[in-house]
Amino acid sequence: MIFATGKAAWAAKLLVLGTLGVGACNEMYGDVMGDGGVTAEMLVGAGGDHANWISHGRTYDEQRFSPLDQVNAENVGELDLAWYADMDTARGQEATPLVMDGKLYLTTAWSKVKAFDAATGKPLWDYDPEVPGETGVKVCCDVVNRGLAAWGNSLFLGTLDGRLVSLDRDTGEVQWEVVTVDQSMAYSITGAPRVIDGKVIIGNGGAEFGVRGYVAAYDAADGSELWRFYTVPDGNEGGESPQYLQDAAETWNTEVLRSSDSIGGGGTVWDSMAYDPELDLLYFGVGNGSPWNQAYRSPGEDGTGEGDNLYLSSIVAIRPDTGEYVWHYQTTPGETWDYTATQHIILADMEVDGEKRKVLMQAPKNGFFYVLDRETGEFISAEEYIPQNWAERIDESGRPIFNPEARIDKTGQPALVMPGPLGGHNWHPMAYHPGEGLVYIPAFEAASVYAPEENWKPDVARGFNVGFNLGAGDLPPDLGIRKEVYGTVKGKLMAWDPVAQEARWVVEHAGPWNGGLLATGGGLVFQGNSSSEFAAYNAGSGEKLWSFGAQTGVVAPPMTYTVNGEQYVAVLAGWGGAYAITADGHLVNDQGPVRNISRLLVFKLGGEAELPEMRELVNLPLDPPPSRASAEEIALGKEKYARYCAVCHAPAAVGSTVLPDLRRSGTLGNARSWEAVVHEGILKDNGMVSFADSLSKEEVQAIRAYVIARANEDKALEEATAAEAEQVARR
Ligand code: CA
Repeated sequence: MIFATGKAAWAAKLLVLGTLGVGACNEMYGDVMGDGGVTAEMLVGAGGDHANWISHGRTYDEQRFSPLDQVNAENVGELDLAWYADMDTARGQEATPLVMDGKLYLTTAWSKVKAFDAATGKPLWDYDPEVPGETGVKVCCDVVNRGLAAWGNSLFLGTLDGRLVSLDRDTGEVQWEVVTVDQSMAYSITGAPRVIDGKVIIGNGGAEFGVRGYVAAYDAADGSELWRFYTVPDGNEGGESPQYLQDAAETWNTEVLRSSDSIGGGGTVWDSMAYDPELDLLYFGVGNGSPWNQAYRSPGEDGTGEGDNLYLSSIVAIRPDTGEYVWHYQTTPGETWDYTATQHIILADMEVDGEKRKVLMQAPKNGFFYVLDRETGEFISAEEYIPQNWAERIDESGRPIFNPEARIDKTGQPALVMPGPLGGHNWHPMAYHPGEGLVYIPAFEAASVYAPEENWKPDVARGFNVGFNLGAGDLPPDLGIRKEVYGTVKGKLMAWDPVAQEARWVVEHAGPWNGGLLATGGGLVFQGNSSSEFAAYNAGSGEKLWSFGAQTGVVAPPMTYTVNGEQYVAVLAGWGGAYAITADGHLVNDQGPVRNISRLLVFKLGGEAELPEMRELVNLPLDPPPSRASAEEIALGKEKYARYCAVCHAPAAVGSTVLPDLRRSGTLGNARSWEAVVHEGILKDNGMVSFADSLSKEEVQAIRAYVIARANEDKALEEATAAEAEQVARR
């Protein structure tokens, strides 16, 4: 039995690693790991294994710091492309590759897995779980996948349609697969599993549509479910229910949760996890409520705890062996703005007020940077990392003092709230540099209009279920106004001092939705961005030291490894994710249209590979049929478009650069073809399913009328802009 030695052996190993210090254990495992593959000791000691990258955030504390210093602030100018690999998907790429024994493993959009020789880029094997295309409408934020977990000689993958799959690391062959969700509901998996002591831990997403969130553990040997931890009550909590759920039920309107209209309460665990082997605590972040608008979920009083809706927007600590609850901290009680606490969790030890503390850090969507005691969950501090207006401040007990005007669930009135649903920081991983004592945050500033929808009813069949009018914030067709509004959406790389709770330095990006981060012992921070660039910054000062033209927006976090003693830096490029599929790709920044070219980029000092020439992005002029529908029909189409179409085809039908631009659709001029696509679902294998359960044929045609009207508005705009450009050119 591999684990017979148990935790005592781990702890001993941990102590040994701790005494070696950085550098001394540089080649602890060398480039090669041995026949047994990944063990508990290797995962606990991953910080000392500089060659490989065997777990999602590199180490259980998820610092995304590599001590490798061969590439450093002095020589990073010589960093260049060693090899690249084109992906066979053209959607958002968010994965962190794993590297073991000189082989690199990654996941791509549509939950596909690929293996390469990590030094040469030679493809080794491919695995496609064949996720049905129609799963695409069950996801809020693109058909992405963020990575794998490793244990023994197996790799574990969560698929978009909710399966957990064990693959043979040598061949990519399936060893077992289990369905972890009710596939009749809008559950999805985009996050990377983690493995603790032979247990594969995975959560799921879907809170925009309406599900009840949980995280669960499966036996790495055969996929059998070992425990399941629900994050919200189901309204029927009795004596049999675990105490933590009975306690949570006190903070909900359980009648709503029990009713036939209930859409599950939300609270999905779709991304972050971290583990402290000494305390034996697994930490995870919990998502937003279903629906967003708390007025339809659980009306309660502010400040009394009655409407807190535990464990939404919380950080929760549990025992990984049993799933037993230990503590929680709720960042946003009574969450109503999609303020998830699913963002990256980093564990570190640091001196706070003269005392050595074991802390847990998070910059959740709500705009505050939190430092907690990870042993007890005690609140230590929280300060704004971006401007926000939903809370006056976080009080000494760790509870927010709300701005009453931002509580749209109580006022019933629209309000412009900062941050909006994209948050001040989304899924993009941060990094922590222990030498600098800094957390690097891929932050952004994007406010949003939240307009409560009157007499809203959930639709369990299709579409977003948020209880707000998602069309309320649509921009007018005026290009000047659109550019101005896009200009207010900012992207920042921030170096945050978690003890002083203030920024040490900030890099302003040309646009938002920039990549995840890597910090290294070479004094560098690596980040891709929405300006189609991959860059290295001085970890201490923020000075940009190197950059590479990536041809595509980069959102995924970089990682680094060595093969035969040579250091490589890898990043999966490919624009996508929640902002990318809803924003006009031409206006994201002023650096030209950002596009998706999905490709793994791998760098080393003196690399000599070159990317192929970039294809021109051709946008044919808009050529819609004339708009002849009545104002009433167009208004109906606008309303239905906002609820059922905007999440994939962009608000106001402006068209992102990732998913089909409906203004340019070939079916726009043909009522029958449009109906075949939207009502009958003839393109379901591409992800465009039938909406017949939610939309009548008349409503489907009203949406067509609305898109035609919008296309004509934008056509007039294009012509005016072209005429103006011609005049300027003549001057
Ligand atoms: Ca959400």
